[in-house]
Amino acid sequence: MYDTIIIGGGYAGLTCGVILAKSGQRVCVLEKSRVLGGAFQCFQRSGLRFDTGFHYVGGVAEGEIMHPMMEMFGLADLPWVRLDEEFLEVHCDDQIYRLHCGYDCFVEQLSSQFPEERDGIEALVETMRNVAQHIYETVRLDSGFENKLMQIAAKEWIEEHIRDPRLRKLLCAQAVTTDLTPNLPLYSFIQSLNSFIQHSYRIEGGGDTIIARLRENIIAHGGEVRTGCEVTSFHDDGRGKIASVGCSNGDVLAARQFISTIHPALSVALMPECPQIRGIYRRRFSRMPNTRGIFTVQLAIKPDTIPYRNQVISLLGSSDPWNTDYSSSAPVENLLINYNVPQRKGSRFADNIDLLTPMDFNAFERWSDSRVGHRPDDYRLLKEAKAQECIELAAKHLPELKDSITAIYTSTPLTYRDYTGTIEGSAYGISKSSTAIAGGMLSPMTPFPNLFFAGQSIMLHGMLGVGMSSILVTNIVKQVAQAQ
Ligand SMILES: Cc1cc2nc3c(=O)[nH]c(=O)nc-3n(C[C@H](O)[C@H](O)[C@H](O)COP(=O)(O)OP(=O)(O)OC[C@H]3O[C@@H](n4cnc5c(N)ncnc54)[C@H](O)[C@@H]3O)c2cc1C
Repeated sequence: MYDTIIIGGGYAGLTCGVILAKSGQRVCVLEKSRVLGGAFQCFQRSGLRFDTGFHYVGGVAEGEIMHPMMEMFGLADLPWVRLDEEFLEVHCDDQIYRLHCGYDCFVEQLSSQFPEERDGIEALVETMRNVAQHIYETVRLDSGFENKLMQIAAKEWIEEHIRDPRLRKLLCAQAVTTDLTPNLPLYSFIQSLNSFIQHSYRIEGGGDTIIARLRENIIAHGGEVRTGCEVTSFHDDGRGKIASVGCSNGDVLAARQFISTIHPALSVALMPECPQIRGIYRRRFSRMPNTRGIFTVQLAIKPDTIPYRNQVISLLGSSDPWNTDYSSSAPVENLLINYNVPQRKGSRFADNIDLLTPMDFNAFERWSDSRVGHRPDDYRLLKEAKAQECIELAAKHLPELKDSITAIYTSTPLTYRDYTGTIEGSAYGISKSSTAIAGGMLSPMTPFPNLFFAGQSIMLHGMLGVGMSSILVTNIVKQVAQAQ
């Protein structure tokens, strides 16, 4: 019998596992795929390692927002690569802008380009400082998991405080691959921008470095991590609690408490028929909208041809970034160009570069009955056409790119769906919205007193948001364990 079984071996499941194993609990993390990591996993092609989801993150170093979490998860001493002070280069309306790290430098640099907007830029930074100060209060058990900035739409706030349309657009550049919808809560927008402004980081070895360390830390503290172990059912004990989970390999594993980090709609589908689950609860999560997916083009680059850039490049098209059309028939407009940390020791040249753009699931929906490795030719043709569009767009700003590509790999929302089980290939799970109750932040509690939710659909996505949900849910699990 385990103290806690955790379903899902992505960043959420593994960070929950580390916290609980370190607290002395006997934990077991169950991951359906053979490869751990969910959207943090890497894959190998052309002798190179490619990231799937995770690319860069903000606020890792001492004094920055994620540092306490990095210490807690045992990730602080990993080979983080701090990006340049001008961490983001933005190409927008035939201009090139650069966003600077550090609150003061950020204000000064933007105010020198938009002098009339100094007050609005200062108000933005003031809001960032407030969010940064209170982040760890949000995960306290008595916080009610709420923040009033979740009820304010980021788009409206920006329009109220910034008049110049160019600056309004520029402020969206960092978030171009997140779900920029008109109701995106100010808290979600600010929290991620704030972390990147503190300083941005890539990591040597990509997401695999993080995942390997988390697994190591769980095992070092007596926990277990099982891959190829899909949870197919929860079993109740007849007295209103979950007693065990059933797995695809036939195992039935019992525990006192359970944390599910998979999409809540998928978790609910695994719950047993019992009086405390009403039909309305079962339907609730599958009716909630999910964020759109991402189309990623992973490029292997001819050695020693394109110098590595220690910055992220964001290309913004002519559309309003809050209302861009991401269907298959729309041209690719907004693109993030991410250089991965060189894999040849000491090299100053890029080995691989990723191009990322948001994409609606319905662009690939007609092939939703197919699975990875068995998709028809017309799917492949659409992927190739979209990849070429992304490359053409990137090459306008990086002319040497086209002659330096040695191999092209692509991931569509369907790829993400099949590898991580995320509904409709959504990149970040259930959407947050300023018009929803608590901005769409979900409670980790379920109708079962010993089953909890964590992961990107619950609070916020990304390393920071998911880390917050892991701290919150493990605080609850530890408290319940103490009371038993
Ligand atoms: C293209 C892309 C780019 C991104 N870029 C960044 C970035 O640069 N920085 C950043 O911080 N964040 C980024 N993110 C977001 C970040 O990767 C995610 O928010 C985070 O990885 C989500 O972690 P999770 O554990 O909640 O979910 P997941 O990573 O989806 O993990 C869930 C796990 O559960 C497993 N699972 C599903 N069903 C079952 C089952 N029945 N039994 C057992 N296991 C199961 C899945 O296989 C998966 O491994 C990006 C995401 C995407 C898609």
